[in-house]
Amino acid sequence: MAQLLEGKLIAERLRNEAAAEAAELKKSGVVPKLVAVQAGENPASAVYLKSQKNQCAKVGLDYELRTCPADIGQAELAAEIERLNQDRSVNGIILQMPLPGQLDGRKLQAAILPEKDVEGITPANLGRLVLAKPRFVPCTAAGVMELLKSTGDNLYGKEAVVVGHSEIVGKPLALLLLAEFVTVSVCHIATGERGHLADHVGRAEILVVAVGKAGLIKGEWIQKGATVIDVGINRVGDKLVGDVEFEAAAERAARITPVPGGVGPLTVAMLIRNTVLAARAALG
Ligand code: NAP
Repeated sequence: MAQLLEGKLIAERLRNEAAAEAAELKKSGVVPKLVAVQAGENPASAVYLKSQKNQCAKVGLDYELRTCPADIGQAELAAEIERLNQDRSVNGIILQMPLPGQLDGRKLQAAILPEKDVEGITPANLGRLVLAKPRFVPCTAAGVMELLKSTGDNLYGKEAVVVGHSEIVGKPLALLLLAEFVTVSVCHIATGERGHLADHVGRAEILVVAVGKAGLIKGEWIQKGATVIDVGINRVGDKLVGDVEFEAAAERAARITPVPGGVGPLTVAMLIRNTVLAARAALG
């Protein structure tokens, strides 16, 4: 039976480090501030937003949630972001996705000042990742790397398979793994359509799945002794499950993340860490 890779303890360590840094900054009169902007209210975002607020309070950060009307226009929301860009008391800005259909989310995300882009999703920050000179790294991808490093395993030369190629998880994660000289394959919808997903998964010494489809990865596909990181979060009935068939995978893997409780706790911890780093950088 696989060892459970839980994010809780690592998240706690990251929060303690951030709290110590925030206390240091306070001596210079700086309280790091994170502002989340949403357009309308989306029940799917509520848990994430609540966690941001609670964790900021724990670490000693200021937090504000700005809820704009659901029918806000592109120019108005861009102006709101620009006000936050100019506001020196604000260190981190999050634009909560998804946005209502009238808005171009990519354009609005790109309007966030890279120095305040604590989610690491602006073209400037993603570009730095390509150059292996990261500033802010997308939080979930950074969380996966923390989990992998916590195992103490040498990543150099390992075979990794990342399933899912989104801008916030799969793609940045592939770049982070490459920077550690991991051999990375990235699978996506076309891999599945050609029926090649099982072959790729079977080669993975490190498997990371970030798709959002319960049971997509069959336990019997997992290589014996693999490390399995399941980023997916799916509601099935009244339960939350990942993308990997947990029980069957745990029979073959050496380590596996539970869902919930694996990667999830690390995402907000990374956001907090980035906000503190942004505040320190702003101080010079
Ligand atoms: P996303 O933007 O919807 O991306 C999903 C990816 O999966 C896409 O690249 C898609 O490829 C690929 N895909 C879809 N069907 C596939 C299939 N049958 N075989 C292989 N690949 C397939 O989602 P995301 O934002 O990356 O999130 C993915 C999952 O992680 C979701 O369940 C989300 O809730 C969860 N998540 C968790 C955390 C956390 O903190 N734990 C944070 C972020 C996300 P195509 O684009 O080619 O269709």
